[in-house]
Amino acid sequence: MSMIKGIAASNGVAIAKAYKLETPDLSFETKKVEDVASEIKRLEAALDISKLELEKIKENARKTLGDEHAEIFSAHLLVLSDPELITPIEDKIKNESVNAEAALHDTATMFINMFKAMDNEYMRERAADIQDVTKRVMAHLLQVSFPDPALIDEQVVIIAEDLTPSDTAQLNKQFVKGFATNIGGRTSHSAIMARSLEIPAIVGTKTITEDVKEGDILIVDGIDGDVIINPTVEEIALYEKKQDNFAKQKQIWAKLKDEPTVSSDGTHVELVANIGTPDDVQGILNNGGEGVGLYRTEFLYMGNSDFPTEDQQFEAYKSVLEQMGDKPVVVRTLDIGGDKELSYLDLPHEMNPFLGFRAIRLCLERDDIFRTQLRALLRASAYGNLKIMFPMIATLNEFREAKALLLEEKANLVNDGVSVSDDIEVGIMVEIPSTAVIARQFAKEVDFFSIGTNDLIQYTMAADRMNERVSYLYQPYHPAILNLVNNVIEAAHAEGKWAGMCGEMAGDPIAIPILLGLGLDEFSMSATSILPARTQIKDLSKAEMASYKEELLSMSTADEVEAFIREKTNQ
Ligand code: PEP
Ligand code: MG
Repeated sequence: MSMIKGIAASNGVAIAKAYKLETPDLSFETKKVEDVASEIKRLEAALDISKLELEKIKENARKTLGDEHAEIFSAHLLVLSDPELITPIEDKIKNESVNAEAALHDTATMFINMFKAMDNEYMRERAADIQDVTKRVMAHLLQVSFPDPALIDEQVVIIAEDLTPSDTAQLNKQFVKGFATNIGGRTSHSAIMARSLEIPAIVGTKTITEDVKEGDILIVDGIDGDVIINPTVEEIALYEKKQDNFAKQKQIWAKLKDEPTVSSDGTHVELVANIGTPDDVQGILNNGGEGVGLYRTEFLYMGNSDFPTEDQQFEAYKSVLEQMGDKPVVVRTLDIGGDKELSYLDLPHEMNPFLGFRAIRLCLERDDIFRTQLRALLRASAYGNLKIMFPMIATLNEFREAKALLLEEKANLVNDGVSVSDDIEVGIMVEIPSTAVIARQFAKEVDFFSIGTNDLIQYTMAADRMNERVSYLYQPYHPAILNLVNNVIEAAHAEGKWAGMCGEMAGDPIAIPILLGLGLDEFSMSATSILPARTQIKDLSKAEMASYKEELLSMSTADEVEAFIREKTNQ
């Protein structure tokens, strides 16, 4: 047996065949052909099979992810039937007697470059569509297999360098039992998506794509972060037992599903969930969540081939609010950039995308995009308990500007006779150290804070959250982080506001006792972490944890903090 260690990103145990998700080598030679007619036939056959595949993918996406996600594939199908693209390829084969690969490549490249250069987002998006679909056709011409996560129809474990959020959005849980990647950390978006899909995942293995062959049998142990390649019968039995135990543990947690979250000495805290799409709400309800603490709206933009319209957004927000009834729903405005890209928004390449033009920075400059989202949110506010928060706030001016746009759009809607809720709380994510340091000043103006530790840790420690080489520096329990978190909570309380946390730290069993002691009001986590967290908090005394506060804040290292908490809470 060989075993590879990685970072446990989503718990559970999966046992299935490996499916390697790699872009194949699509290089080809330009050749002269004599039989032009049969070359055109070869092209037509590749187009036909690509269309059939896309139809199937579209149907899968529609069933598992909804109509919105499926639309991107309609656009791809249109490209393959578009005579403006196909005729020039055929003409090139006829007139220049070149092979179909060369004709396809040259013609597609010409269109891609032409569309990319246009000063119109819709056209630039066409370039991305052509690029995507011609790769598929090229793979068929070359007779190399083109991996397609949405086409998988048997039980597999996916192996990849990394999974983009849109790859992850195409995974069908019925067949994809887990995944393991070379890069990434616990807070990379593929890891977060795995937790919301509730499939075991391991990231940051560095070498899994080299170590595993297509079809190898794999065990993905998302509890301890191990991948076992081609296990023996005994090992399979051992891990099946682990799978069983995990299922039993889940049943014990499930007993607390309809209970409030109360510490052993009677303090109630709110346990809410992070979601990416309206479909994730079911997971919150199944796991006894008390609300939505972070709705990452960017997935609505990423699953689309163009900006979602105001009405499309309104429907999505309304659906989440209605499903949650009177429970709070904190919606974060668009946080694009960093590791989250939009194929149809052509932004210049940046040296440091995580420090670049993203989130609120982009929304304030492109206020057309921002206003559309704000209007959709305001219209949806009439259907539930909506709270709005802005991501990546670094200065008070950014918050003031964003809030002013919100109030302006609200006034416009009210003028038009649209009903808008009058008690929408407006808060910010605290994920930039400058904001955590002067949280007192912010607390006077915002209605609440939600601490985004995924980013706050990477910015405070100057350690990229995606980079496994520096993952040793990504230390949630570092006293610097604890002091910033404490500062934010104290600032909120001093002004009579509430403080939540929606970074992954909020669901971490070592962090939970600390955060309870620091007085955090709301813990927002992956839905599957809610019941284990509730079980843990039930046995913790808030007063006892609070009594350790000064000692913890003055510790020197993350290790000291972790050892202390392990000892005090028997972990
Ligand atoms: C965070 O930064 O902690 C956060 C919750 O936002 P995201 O993970 O989407 O960057
Ligand atoms: Mg963030």
